[in-house]
Amino acid sequence: MSGKFKLITGLGNKDENKVKSLVLLWAKAGADIFDTSPVTIPSLQKAFIENGLNLEDFDFCTSYAIKGDFHGKKAKIDPILCKLCNKCKKVCIEGAIEPPNVNELKCIGCSHCKKACKYGAISLYDSDDDGFFELLKKDVKLDTVEIHISIKDKKIIKDEFKKIIKALNNSNCAKNSKISVCFNRTYFSNSKTEKILEKLKELSGNREFMVQADGNSMNGANNTLAGTIETVAFGLFVKSLGYDVILSGGCNEFSAELANKAGLTCSIGFGSFARKMTENLPEDEKLKVAKEFVRKTKELLNDKQC
Ligand code: SF4
Ligand code: SF4
Repeated sequence: MSGKFKLITGLGNKDENKVKSLVLLWAKAGADIFDTSPVTIPSLQKAFIENGLNLEDFDFCTSYAIKGDFHGKKAKIDPILCKLCNKCKKVCIEGAIEPPNVNELKCIGCSHCKKACKYGAISLYDSDDDGFFELLKKDVKLDTVEIHISIKDKKIIKDEFKKIIKALNNSNCAKNSKISVCFNRTYFSNSKTEKILEKLKELSGNREFMVQADGNSMNGANNTLAGTIETVAFGLFVKSLGYDVILSGGCNEFSAELANKAGLTCSIGFGSFARKMTENLPEDEKLKVAKEFVRKTKELLNDKQC
C-alpha cells in the first residue's frame, strides 16, 4: 500500500482565499488529500475546476470537532486584561491576532497565544459546528469526513459519533465518505484506544475507516525530531491494532523518514509545517520547494514496507 500526502489547512481556518491559494499550490506540487474547513470546500472545488485540475484525482476531506476537542476552539482576548504587549501576535502563525482582537476566520485554536500571554488575557472557547452540517446539504465531492474526538467523556463521543454517521447517511455528498477518527494521547490509554476504536468502527458500518494519529498537535512548525516522535509512536500502536493510519500533529521534515525507519505503513498529514515552508518565499520558488518536499515524502512512504 502507498502512503498519501495530506495537506491540512485547519478546521477553524475559514479564510477562503488563503486556503484556496495554499491548496492549489500543494495540489500542483503533488499532494493527494486536502483537509480544509467545511465552509471552504465549495469555492475550493470551483477553483480546482477553473485551474484545470480534475477533482477525481484528489481526496477532499473535511472535519467535525466534538465539543471540547481543541480543533474546534477559538481564542478570544479580554480587552481589560490585555496590555497590548503583542507577544501573542508574534507566536500566532496564522496571523489571526491584532491585539486586542482575534480574527475568528483565521484562528485554528492552537492555543499558542494563550501560552504566550503572561497576563491571562486569552481564553479559548468552543466555536460553532464550523458549517459542517450545512456542507452536507451541498453538491460537493466529499471523500473523507474526519471526526476529532479528543475529549474525556466516552458517552459523549459515542453519542456525537452516532449523530454524525446518521447525518452522513442522509446526505447525498457524504453517503459514501470514508471516516477518519482523529485524536491524541491526552485522554486515551492503550486499552481505551483499543476499545473506543472498536466501537467507532462498528458505528461506522460499511464505511472505510481509518485513524488519524495525532501526536504533538499543532506544533509541526517547530520542526524538531522530538516533535514528531510521539506522532510516529502513536501511529505504530494504532497500526498494530489493524487500522489504516494517517500521522498528524507535529508532522514535519523528520516524520516520513522516521515512519519509514520504524516500518510504519501510513499516510502523513502536514499542517503548520507545510504552511510555513512556503509562506515567505517568492512566488516562483514556492511550487519548486513544495514539489520537492512532496516528492521526498512520497518516496519514503512508498518504500517496500509501505
Ligand atoms: S500577549 Fe496578552 S497582554 Fe500581550 S497583547 Fe496578547 S493578549 Fe494582550
Ligand atoms: S495562536 Fe492559535 S489560538 Fe491563538 S489566535 Fe493564533 S491561531 Fe488562534
